[in-house]
Amino acid sequence: MALKVGVIGTGMIGQDHIRRLTKVLSGVDVVGVADIERARAEAAAPEGATVFDTPQDLIASDTVEAIVICSWGPAHEEQLLGCIAAGKPVFCEKPLVTSEAAALKVMEAEVAYGHRLVQVGFMRRFDADYRRLKAVIDGGTLGAPLMYKSIHRNASVPAGLYTSDMPLNDTLVHDADVSRWLLDDEVVGVEVRVPRRSSRGGELRDPHIVLLHCGSGAIVTVEISVNISYGYDIRGEVACEQGVAALPNRPATVVSDRFGIRQEIPEDWRERFIEAYDQEFREWIVAAGQGTATGPSTWDGYAATLVADAALRAVESGAFEQIAMIAKPALYETA
Ligand code: NAP
Repeated sequence: MALKVGVIGTGMIGQDHIRRLTKVLSGVDVVGVADIERARAEAAAPEGATVFDTPQDLIASDTVEAIVICSWGPAHEEQLLGCIAAGKPVFCEKPLVTSEAAALKVMEAEVAYGHRLVQVGFMRRFDADYRRLKAVIDGGTLGAPLMYKSIHRNASVPAGLYTSDMPLNDTLVHDADVSRWLLDDEVVGVEVRVPRRSSRGGELRDPHIVLLHCGSGAIVTVEISVNISYGYDIRGEVACEQGVAALPNRPATVVSDRFGIRQEIPEDWRERFIEAYDQEFREWIVAAGQGTATGPSTWDGYAATLVADAALRAVESGAFEQIAMIAKPALYETA
């Protein structure tokens, strides 16, 4: 039996996930949609799906077994709490929520419920290249990881809509999450350095170098450049005690022509991570069908929120900003 899913938020990624759930993946039906703008939900609704007046109506509906949240970040808290109260599995696009207090509230509700219901949309964990990189590190043949260099370059960002805080509270969360996962370590402090500003972004503070200090002593450097012009370029290299392991540059096809030899660069994140998005939903559908969740958890969303908050403090202070986490609830120990 196909899993009956309702999608909240039918903007850019909501529409892409509806396409994925209806045209790419099996074992799932999109039976309902809701958006703050009803007309947008109506336009995005697959044939036969109900357009609900509010997200809470969608969550409460008997026809909806599991929910995908693609609304903007500040709306996630209320919608997640609604899903947990209804005991329904939920895939929530990043960010989990936009404050530490909200993350703790969602965690408290899920812990009280007694088992995992929430999967956060950190799709890099489902990318085949990242998974191979993690397998090498976990295999132990290179020894302990000491440093991880993460490069996150966007061709451009929407002028006016993408503000100077967003490299740190919107873009960095992917690098922060994948660093914690790759190194199996928590971030305990953050520093931020701002080099010469790119003239391509006008007043936008760009680029950034972020240092994530991990509990083991390992250090992650993250380059975030959001106006690099040439494409969407994601790189990663882990330096260990006895060797180095790196992501391949994608796509790996090498083109030779009269201009020379080159590897082409994806235009944006949709192209680079298209298979990872598909895979995160494949695994979510299986878990949600069993009434639970897999992969990145509420704990991981909480950790990323703390990193973003610390990075915003660090860019202001210019200093090392410490992160204090609560003790990890047993529910997330095996996540
Ligand atoms: P978007 O195009 O602005 O879409 C968000 C949609 O949700 C809009 O239609 C918005 O309506 C609607 N909405 C806002 N508040 C709502 C509420 N309370 N209830 C119902 N609908 C509501 O944004 P997007 O780019 O799709 O991003 C959506 C989420 O996905 C964000 O959290 C973003 O960070 C995340 N995201 C993740 C990735 C990834 O790589 N994993 C990539 C892109 C985006 P209005 O426009 O009228 O506010």
